[in-house]
Amino acid sequence: MEQEKILGISDELVERCVRCGSCRQVCPVFNVTHEEPSVARGKIFLADMINKGKAELDKEAAHFFNLCTTCLRCAEICPVMVDYEKIIISARAKAVEKFGLPPEKAAAVKLFSNPKLLNLAGKVAAPLTKLFTKASKSPQNRLLPFNVPKLGKVLLPEPKAKPFNSTDRWFRPKGKEKGRALFFTGCMFNNFYTETAQNVVKVLNALGYSVFVPKEQSCCGAPAFFAGDLKTFNQMKQKNLGSLNREGFDFIVTACATCGHVLKGEYSELRLPVKELIELLFENIETVGSWKLPRKVRVTWHHPCHIVRGQKIPRHYPEDVLKVLQNLSYTPMPEADNCCGMGGSFKLSHPEISREIQLKKAKNADSTEAEVVLTECPGCVMNIAEGLERIGSKASALHIADLLAKAVK
Ligand code: SF4
Ligand code: SF4
Repeated sequence: MEQEKILGISDELVERCVRCGSCRQVCPVFNVTHEEPSVARGKIFLADMINKGKAELDKEAAHFFNLCTTCLRCAEICPVMVDYEKIIISARAKAVEKFGLPPEKAAAVKLFSNPKLLNLAGKVAAPLTKLFTKASKSPQNRLLPFNVPKLGKVLLPEPKAKPFNSTDRWFRPKGKEKGRALFFTGCMFNNFYTETAQNVVKVLNALGYSVFVPKEQSCCGAPAFFAGDLKTFNQMKQKNLGSLNREGFDFIVTACATCGHVLKGEYSELRLPVKELIELLFENIETVGSWKLPRKVRVTWHHPCHIVRGQKIPRHYPEDVLKVLQNLSYTPMPEADNCCGMGGSFKLSHPEISREIQLKKAKNADSTEAEVVLTECPGCVMNIAEGLERIGSKASALHIADLLAKAVK
């Protein structure tokens, strides 16, 4: 069994878990399945058994390692601070080495790891999507015209024929320059939410930053990393590093929770600091306080997992920012930091469990009677927008930049 040891997981790492079961209280997947292999404790026990040659890394074990949204709620509550993410990514990597990627993850990794293919897919899909889908309440998202069995309404982000980063571009502020930002857009902004990307730039300019968008950048590699395809992830990372390690900038900015988490955690060779949009908004809260929405808007906020736990950005940052914006009324959402159910390709591999988690999030959002559910992650926007449609809510989901762009001076 020696050859089946899960590489990268030391005994010390897995033996740290004291099997207290605290993670069962917070795990969104366990909350749906009520099965031990769904929760961190079960997966860590399984990894330990495989490491010690007492269990086999078979397809069933690989399936259990994939039964997780990587929301990190377990890691946050864990009294002994088990490094759950390292364990689960290492376990998935070993499973991928042995069995390859499951088909749905292989398709996602192939598409997102190849910018030319993604751009071509956008060009082909953009007119077809307009033709064969209908508008959603949440802009830049489209709905299939029929309900899918067991899932109901299905929403797709609108593919764009022209990517946001089709050329190198500078965007300058109107007044004095406060600093220079290199915008790492990531695939969701480049190929789907291009209007949000434009709004991120507008907001950064209004804060006084010059913004440069390099053409040579692709997806951060999150789909490959979280699937355990570390070879593909490292290839993508090397390409991005070549474009991001430039002189003449103060920081790299992202407006996607997962990009920020991956850049901060896995791109150790970056020479510039990485900042999430919400961090810059909080740093410049006095400027945000001078902005006014054209009409009163009632909002609530969803905390993306990869912002509050992945990057450990304090939960009060978005709340403080929203409270100073003029003409905005903020109502906190129950369980605002619970996962939305997206989990990258988890939504594709476990659609029914993902749907249950999503519906809980949508109902919590709807209970606030907000007209807009704000967040700072395109994946969360997409999944919450779909959940709101599924429960028949009147609310829409928006990236915070989309709302702020209406208020900036
Ligand atoms: S990361 Fe989230 S979904 Fe995965 S085991 Fe931990 S709490 Fe459950
Ligand atoms: S909370 Fe931590 S120590 Fe307790 S069972 Fe879960 S992973 Fe193990």
